[in-house]
Amino acid sequence: MTLLTKSKFMNGLQCPRLLWFADRKQLPEISLSDEHKFAQGHEFEEYVKKLYPNSVDLNGMDFQDNLDKTKELVEQRKTIFEAGFMVGNLFVRSDLIIFNEDGWDLYEIKSTTQSKPQHIPDLAFQKYVLEKAGLKVNRCFLIFLNKDYVRNGEIDPKQLIMIEEVSDQVNLIDDIEKNTGIFLGILKQENPPEIHICMQCNKPYDCPLKQQCWGTLPEYNVLQLTNWRVYWNLLEDGIEDIKDIPKGTKLTAKDEIIIESLEKSPYISKEHIKHFLNSLNYPLYHFDFETFDTAVPLFDKSKPYQKMPFQYSLHIEQKDGSVEHKEFLSEGGDPRPALLKQMKTNLKGAGDIVVFNKSFEISVMKNLAENFPEHKEWLQQAIDRIVDLADPFRAFYYYNKSQKGSYSIKKVLPAITGKSYSELEINNGADASTQYFYSHIKTQLENKEEIRKNLLKYCCLDTEGMAWILNKLMELQNEN
Ligand code: SF4
Repeated sequence: MTLLTKSKFMNGLQCPRLLWFADRKQLPEISLSDEHKFAQGHEFEEYVKKLYPNSVDLNGMDFQDNLDKTKELVEQRKTIFEAGFMVGNLFVRSDLIIFNEDGWDLYEIKSTTQSKPQHIPDLAFQKYVLEKAGLKVNRCFLIFLNKDYVRNGEIDPKQLIMIEEVSDQVNLIDDIEKNTGIFLGILKQENPPEIHICMQCNKPYDCPLKQQCWGTLPEYNVLQLTNWRVYWNLLEDGIEDIKDIPKGTKLTAKDEIIIESLEKSPYISKEHIKHFLNSLNYPLYHFDFETFDTAVPLFDKSKPYQKMPFQYSLHIEQKDGSVEHKEFLSEGGDPRPALLKQMKTNLKGAGDIVVFNKSFEISVMKNLAENFPEHKEWLQQAIDRIVDLADPFRAFYYYNKSQKGSYSIKKVLPAITGKSYSELEINNGADASTQYFYSHIKTQLENKEEIRKNLLKYCCLDTEGMAWILNKLMELQNEN
């Protein structure tokens, strides 16, 4: 029998096509980085369970045993984790239910640092199924992480966990019955529902089928424009190809550049580039961090999901063009004390610290200064020296059509220098983070030495690439 579970119900709310493929288990394989997210959720749940020592945990039981045991425990009014309920084709396994006075309180555990709108229909669907199963549901709650919790010794679950009552929001949802009917109908369809690319491809979650559905779009399509209101409107009107955008459509200056570059690429504003380059103070310290994060903080002086820097690469470029490379890669444990020690020495000097997208590096440095106040002074001086190499690209002083609307370094580097990350074993930040985490913090991956070599190559290319990009900008401003 095909069952509509709570995760499929949520899939259906995002997109009927996603629901159809999820039901047939035809979604792309999940990445190591997605697995990491799930693992973080499970780890957080274990701390929630510590708050309810007299509860019964049905996790791990097989399907029918779970249903039978739930029935028995509900009659005994026990506090239950992972209680299973099936009514017709509807099935839910609730994170936590607690008997209270004359009915039940329903809890959903989310490893986020705040309640989010998409959590409400999730609870509303569970409440609907529990009530159909004969339970009286009095109140609904969300359990999530306290974003301000700072670890100091053993984790204190009472401090780590936040509980918010959301009964009023849940009770406002009145289309569960209608939607369950629609979704059960979709599950029975022989063919997947037609593609209708829209805002829901990104909301509330990045859809795992994007590569498949968006792959049908033309190479230069309206989703590459910078103004999302404009591009979704164009898509709704059936306009996919940039060259089909009707004359008179209100566009931003950046979007005009994206369109013009189809005919004449790259677009270059030499005056602005010159101004940016003239503002730089040598020697230049091209700098980049790699980080990992966990839901439950692993080390003292850190919060849920705090970015923990475990690696950096630094290319110091003198005015005469000579370049020196420095790098740090932690061996494991809390990487910050050793990283700070070496970073302080490596960044000594007065030249600009060049990063790509400064908000990330600045927030990591600010956290380091907050957690290790003895380093605050030099870290603040380093922050004051930061210059963002993404600025000229964010402002479209240079734009190559191969960037396809993006100014990320992964797009800018090949566009302007012809070099790319594609040859590297690790070629993006998410992989760097998970490969490090599962080889150095957890020991699930055995090829630690190989991973270290790949991490060093990847981070090195980020900062070497910045130096190449800057040199290319210099060449361009001097060209006639
Ligand atoms: S990518 Fe968009 S259209 Fe395709 S299944 Fe996902 S949400 Fe639906």
